[in-house]
Amino acid sequence: GVNKLFTKSNNQTLQVLRDVDLEIGAGEFISLLGPSGCGKSTLLNMVAGLEFPSNGKVLVNGKQVKGPGRDRIVVFQESGLFPWMSVLENVMYGLLLRKLSKKEAEEKAMEGLRMVHLGRFAKSYPHELSGGMKQRVAIARALVLDPEILLMDEPFAALDEQTRMVLHTELQEIWQRTGKTIIFITHNIREAVMLSQRIVLLGTRPGCIKKVYQVQASFPRDPGDALLAHLEQ
Ligand code: ATP
Ligand code: MG
Repeated sequence: GVNKLFTKSNNQTLQVLRDVDLEIGAGEFISLLGPSGCGKSTLLNMVAGLEFPSNGKVLVNGKQVKGPGRDRIVVFQESGLFPWMSVLENVMYGLLLRKLSKKEAEEKAMEGLRMVHLGRFAKSYPHELSGGMKQRVAIARALVLDPEILLMDEPFAALDEQTRMVLHTELQEIWQRTGKTIIFITHNIREAVMLSQRIVLLGTRPGCIKKVYQVQASFPRDPGDALLAHLEQ
């Protein structure tokens, strides 16, 4: 089991995760659900290599996570696009860092933008896009780097219900097409049921996994009222 304790500014320790045992299969779409402060982001950041367990190990493909890696990329609630770069340049940025030629990077970036249906906006600047479009660019920017694992920390939390629904469909298509492993954090139970194959429910005290739910496999899913009622308890 993985444990994570933080030392707070008043020198008290806070145990955020207690004996978390979780195995995620390659190609799985899994959601982390639970109240604010229960340790969802901490757990995801440990997979990303941005945080480290106080004890216990986080393994990716059998190897202990020692830091960030090319195989894992996080998409956050805020798109984090560079405002001074066009949409295309934003998506190309990571590819150029990986020493792709400008031409290759541009082709790949365009392909990524088309995957999120934003090909037409390649030359636009972030401030000209809606929040939903910016998140789609952020997803494209992550996808073109072809990570094995896509880590999503409340990527749609700031979006309205309708945009959210469009993005659900897009993300499902991407997942089915690319076979990526997706770890998805949300506060929205319905979203978790709609998108994922399994839902990990974290509790507050003592910061452990409360339950892991298997979601029915068919998509589009009708979040069963029984499951919703159960999760809402
Ligand atoms: P939310 O739904 O609000 O995003 P969360 O489940 O993602 O919450 P975390 O961000 O993982 O929660 O934080 C879990 C707990 O750990 C919180 O009480 C938070 O204050 C604390 N915490 C997180 N990071 C640190 C840190 N670097 N130093 C000290 N405490 C931290
Ligand atoms: Mg969080």
